[in-house]
Amino acid sequence: MDNICYFRPKWVGSPVTTNEKSVTPKSIERRGKNSKKKGEVDPVEVYCRVRPLDNPDDNCCVKPLSTSVVQLIPPENSLAVARNGQIKEYQFTFQYVFDEYTSQKAVFDYVACPLVDDLIRGKNGLLFTYGITSSGKTYTMTGSPKDQGILPRCLDVLFNTISGVQAKKYVFKSDKMNGFEVQSEADAMIERQKRDLMPGITTPKTPTAQRRGNFGDQERISDPTILSSVDDDNQYAVFVSYIEIYNNYVYDLLEELPYDPITGYKPPQTKILRTDSSDCMYVMNCVEVEITSPEEAFEVLFKGQKRRKVAHTALNAESSRSHSIFNIRLVQAPLDPRGEEVLQDPDKICVSQLSLVDLAGSERTHRTKNAGDRLKEAGNINQSLMALRNCMEILRDNQKNSSNKMVPYRDSKLTHLFKNYFDGEGKVRMIVCVNPKGDEFDETIHVMKFAELSQEVLIARQQQVRFDIGLTPGRRKMNYKEKFKSEDDLCTAAKVPAFDFSLGPGFPPFELLRSSDDIVLPQLEKFLEERQKRREAMQLELDRQSDEFRAQLVEFERSYEQALVQNEELQQRVEKSESYVQKLEGRIRSLEKRMEENSRNYKESERQKRELAAMIQDKDVKIRQEKSEKERLKSDFRTRLDMNNQHWERNLEKERQKIEQDYGGQIWEKQQKLNMLRNIVNEGDSDAAMPAPQETFRTPAPKVRTHTTPGKLLSARSENDMRKIGNTPTPRSRTATTGTSLSAARANLRPTPRSTSNTPKPTPAYNPRHRRSRSSNAEIWLDHRPPGSVELDTVLQPKIKKKKSVSKLEVKDTKEASKYMLTHQDMDSDDNLTTKIYKGECLPTAGGGTAVVFNDVEELKQTSPGSRKRRSSCPQPQDFEGEWSDVEDRCNIAIEGHGNARKRSKPGSATRV
Ligand code: ADP
Ligand code: MG
Repeated sequence: MDNICYFRPKWVGSPVTTNEKSVTPKSIERRGKNSKKKGEVDPVEVYCRVRPLDNPDDNCCVKPLSTSVVQLIPPENSLAVARNGQIKEYQFTFQYVFDEYTSQKAVFDYVACPLVDDLIRGKNGLLFTYGITSSGKTYTMTGSPKDQGILPRCLDVLFNTISGVQAKKYVFKSDKMNGFEVQSEADAMIERQKRDLMPGITTPKTPTAQRRGNFGDQERISDPTILSSVDDDNQYAVFVSYIEIYNNYVYDLLEELPYDPITGYKPPQTKILRTDSSDCMYVMNCVEVEITSPEEAFEVLFKGQKRRKVAHTALNAESSRSHSIFNIRLVQAPLDPRGEEVLQDPDKICVSQLSLVDLAGSERTHRTKNAGDRLKEAGNINQSLMALRNCMEILRDNQKNSSNKMVPYRDSKLTHLFKNYFDGEGKVRMIVCVNPKGDEFDETIHVMKFAELSQEVLIARQQQVRFDIGLTPGRRKMNYKEKFKSEDDLCTAAKVPAFDFSLGPGFPPFELLRSSDDIVLPQLEKFLEERQKRREAMQLELDRQSDEFRAQLVEFERSYEQALVQNEELQQRVEKSESYVQKLEGRIRSLEKRMEENSRNYKESERQKRELAAMIQDKDVKIRQEKSEKERLKSDFRTRLDMNNQHWERNLEKERQKIEQDYGGQIWEKQQKLNMLRNIVNEGDSDAAMPAPQETFRTPAPKVRTHTTPGKLLSARSENDMRKIGNTPTPRSRTATTGTSLSAARANLRPTPRSTSNTPKPTPAYNPRHRRSRSSNAEIWLDHRPPGSVELDTVLQPKIKKKKSVSKLEVKDTKEASKYMLTHQDMDSDDNLTTKIYKGECLPTAGGGTAVVFNDVEELKQTSPGSRKRRSSCPQPQDFEGEWSDVEDRCNIAIEGHGNARKRSKPGSATRV
């Protein structure tokens, strides 16, 4: 017995349809689903069987009108009459109506035999008996030994048909995943030997009565039908399993229950339904037995029936309390090209299945007078039958209205297990059993209504299939071994003379009539000699054969020991793989959960993705719109800008030309005036000395440049500018030009080769008469003492009310001040310190800068009492040029500041520091 999975209502292998097209199992399944649409469908075929009344005097409420119509007449005491107040007859049409006189054989031939034929041809079938309790379901399905029902007849006919083409046991093996694999005959033989010899796995011997295939100890009458659907070039093997669904739990009726000497047999474990890799439902870890004869099949059936839950109810002394399912799986595969063995290709295996279901009675609880466990049972039975009805109704509605409502197969184990039949393909047939007793009318009417409705459910038609693997037909017939099955046949065929172990003819007459008999004695002597020779030859042959046998025995023992070892190893491996399978199952369960979760998440994320994609599309459209709007604005703006630029350029050009005209005249005028002044000054210099300026500390020496005439100093933008502004360079002189600016003076005093240009340049505009506000004594002095100046510590100090002292001149400082004074210190060779303070007016220029017009110099000389020379931090005066150059350096700071200011001023405007 194999502890293997079963239930695979589909093809494995590569069968082909009659029109020679290769069809894989998947494609068959797919086509099965589509074929509903194409019309290749068959309805669920429902047959009605009316059983005879137990008591002929009983009220009868069922009357078969024809071979397809049956009439139900409610008795007066029925609920229907009570409800309607009148007797209303009901008529139901079925595929065929069998009356009470129909034999078991007729029912089998009409309903089940075609399913067996289909099974052999590789098609699936489901047949169930349905009806209220005691309506004859079990009778129709199983029957009695003398009058067998459908199930035993199916087995009889199946084995009758495949008897010559059966594969040896264990050639086909379960792959433990609801499928089959094929092994060589040699491997199968080893497995057979192992199973027969090993104590642990020996098949229990069948009782003699059952060996004959009887029900218990009753002799049965088998069905002699032989079908012609078998393919000679195929090998066939039959596997059966037997389960029951009780209280919506699945139990294996063939499972060996563990026995405990104290507590007895342990209760059976419930089985779970699983889906295999092809989405087919099967009972996990269900025992599936390979049977080679109807006798073995009956042994299995008998064993299972003993285990069926049978309980007594008020209606039927042996009412089946569970749904029983006897499952026959026929495995077939083609022979190899030599016609000897099955082709070793698992893809060429074809598995078909016939499920025979004896449903529990569909009685109502109040009628059975059930209570407690029995009541619960009845509830569960009705529940699963209700689930079957629901599924049928929804299937019918879906097919009628082309709707896609979910069929609640999972509501009960019964419907879940047969899901593949309704969803996939194969034939589904139902026999509605009816008890014509008037009391049963109210129950029977429900059964009939449902049965009639079931006929509207359509099942996809399974394709006619046969193998086409490109091998020559008739391989089996050509096979040598098959031709000469017996050993004698083989010997004859091989012309091997068999050894004759007889002693030959009997003794010759050895009666001695005389003492000297020379005839009898020599004859006897000769005979005995020959017999002796013959015995010796026999002894020799016997010895040879016994030696041979001994060698074979030794060989066998050796292989037996090897097999034992192998068996142990195998058992260990089986145990290991079982635990591994359990682990895998656990993982599969968790993976299934995760897969469900993932698919939910995937759907959710798909939805979000779609939403986001829609949003992105919207945004893209908006962005494109905005982009095009921007482009439009940009081009508008560019056009306007160009127009403006052109306008401004034109204006500016005009303005520039105007200014050039205006300033050109002014500059020329000023240049003329300057030339005139220069001439005057040059003339005046030779005539008279300048009057002494006002002296604060001391009247400056004539060698010191003093300014007596204010308003004649101007600054330039840079040294270069100053040079350019300056007139023709004069010879270096210590006498300052009266009224010239410091820079101008310097420009005059320092002949520089760079000052080559005589072109008059425009003077930055400032007002020499401008005075910054002097209200409330606002004359602010800017005291510029360059870093490094030494403290005078003199007694006489300039008295200035408001002043701002800086060491580095910034433009902003000149803005607030109205007066400017620059301290300059020199030390001569006698260590006498000379401090000069250059004073000037700060005048704002048109460019936003400040011009300083130096108008005075104060000089303070401090003479050292001793003649000791000391070093001063001040730079050593060298000559007048050096002095002026120093002043110029300091002023440069102001000029730089002016440069900065100039950068900020408008282009073209005059600037000052
Ligand atoms: P169910 O399985 O529907 O509860 P059974 O098959 O056990 O009912 O039948 C109840 C009784 O009726 C049995 O004793 C059986 O022999 C008998 N019976 C049922 N159908 C027939 C029939 N067609 N001919 C003769 N006896 C029948
Ligand atoms: Mg029954």
